[in-house]
Amino acid sequence: MRDIPPAPDHDIELSGGALALDFANTVGGTHVRPTHDHLRSYGDIASFAVLAGALPPGVAKRLAERAERDPRRAAAVYELGIALRESIWAVFSALASGDSPRDADLALIGDAAADGAARSRLVYDKDGVGWSLPPESDDLERPLWDIARSAADLLTSGDHDRIKECASTTCEWVFLDRSRNRSRRWCDMSDCGNRAKARRFHAKKQTARV
Ligand SMILES: [Zn+2]
Repeated sequence: MRDIPPAPDHDIELSGGALALDFANTVGGTHVRPTHDHLRSYGDIASFAVLAGALPPGVAKRLAERAERDPRRAAAVYELGIALRESIWAVFSALASGDSPRDADLALIGDAAADGAARSRLVYDKDGVGWSLPPESDDLERPLWDIARSAADLLTSGDHDRIKECASTTCEWVFLDRSRNRSRRWCDMSDCGNRAKARRFHAKKQTARV
């Protein structure tokens, strides 16, 4: 069991542009020294998936009840979820810097995505035909399968030059740059972008005074 960092004083932000990236960004500070963690129990992973629109609330409720009945299994799936998050972050962070991702991280993502794919079926809805887990599926790993598939889809899409890591030195959030000229530098302009702007302004004032 890892030491769980403190609880955050704010809600989860979804600024990554993809389910897997939002999942990677559920930790504050750096991944080596997190200042806070939104995912502190299995229930937090299910809540994240609902917030991100990846899990129907009714299914999340069933999963929460199941986790309560089987706390040991829920704890194991929680640990797997955290390992998956760290692998997703490591792979996307590496690609954002032009480095090669580690095989072990890719294997963890691939295994979880394949587990989900083995249980999925092709369904037709308003968006067309796609892979979907049956509504009655209430395996505790279900939220992780969708997250892993999101990561695998992004990785195999070949659009790696859209994968970025926040330019702030104190933030390691990863995101999909959907801007036309691929010029987005910050995870969130109102957060890291503004802080950097304020720092530049302050530094300019200091130099002006000398
Ligand atoms: Zn940032």
